[in-house]
Amino acid sequence: MSRVEQAINVAVMVVPLCLLGFAAYRAWGGALHWQDLVALFVLYTLCGLGVTVGFHRLFTHRSFKTGPALRLLFGALGSAAIEGPLIEWVANHRKHHQLSDQPGDPHSPHGHGSGLRGALRGLAHAHLGWILRGDAASDPQRYAKDLLADPLARFIDATFLLWALAGLALAFGLGYALSGTLAGALEALLWGGAVRIFLLHHATFSINSLCHFFGKTPYDTGDQSRNLTWLALPTMGEAWHNNHHAFPTSARHGLGRFQLDPSWWTISALARLGLAREVVRVAPERIEQRRAAAAGRSAA
Ligand SMILES: [Zn+2]
Ligand SMILES: [Zn+2]
Repeated sequence: MSRVEQAINVAVMVVPLCLLGFAAYRAWGGALHWQDLVALFVLYTLCGLGVTVGFHRLFTHRSFKTGPALRLLFGALGSAAIEGPLIEWVANHRKHHQLSDQPGDPHSPHGHGSGLRGALRGLAHAHLGWILRGDAASDPQRYAKDLLADPLARFIDATFLLWALAGLALAFGLGYALSGTLAGALEALLWGGAVRIFLLHHATFSINSLCHFFGKTPYDTGDQSRNLTWLALPTMGEAWHNNHHAFPTSARHGLGRFQLDPSWWTISALARLGLAREVVRVAPERIEQRRAAAAGRSAA
């Protein structure tokens, strides 16, 4: 990664943090309006689903198929989350699955020393350090060859900046539509833009850090992936991460009855509308078998 790219990565993390402080200061002073919270909620949900349903379950794991319009929409929304261009994101994530918690995993919190110091250093690396240092660089030729050969995926990847700006424009436009004033539009840009980017970034990064460190392991996956219940909603169901490592291609991550998974609800709604097809589902017997095997091993 070049110095310029590294500086951009640092800026993309630091600027929203500063603006979050500014937003909190304004909210404290009574300048927070319901329109700002609507902008935050709408943009967070749309961009969040862009990452989880689009970048992750559709493009990385091919958990379902859909037409070009929806592929473009999910790719655009995922890009608007500003977590990097599509093909780079997919390559890093596939490498993570291939080498999960082993040497070469772009963002494992393990293997960074012993004791509390090693744990904290590992969590910091998995959460943000690997991005700021830019030491991932997963080769797309090796990890995302299918997307390099896909004109639509290449287009989404090449127009990353456009979608990132479109996400900010959407927050601004929504604020203007709801408040009818320029000041209202700017305030919505702060909440639906900067605050949303900050919150969604750290929800996604928590999958890489917290979900490989804290939580339950109902399945034996050979790595440290975990299910973290309290993180399920803010991550749109991605925090059922041990489930996901056990069944990576499954479109549904919240496999249990009460495991909330808004990304799965979205995919299953699209399937019912005839807009998603070849949805990958895991047979209940297979789930039960893996659970029983893990329970048997831990009891032995
Ligand atoms: Zn993982
Ligand atoms: Zn995955």
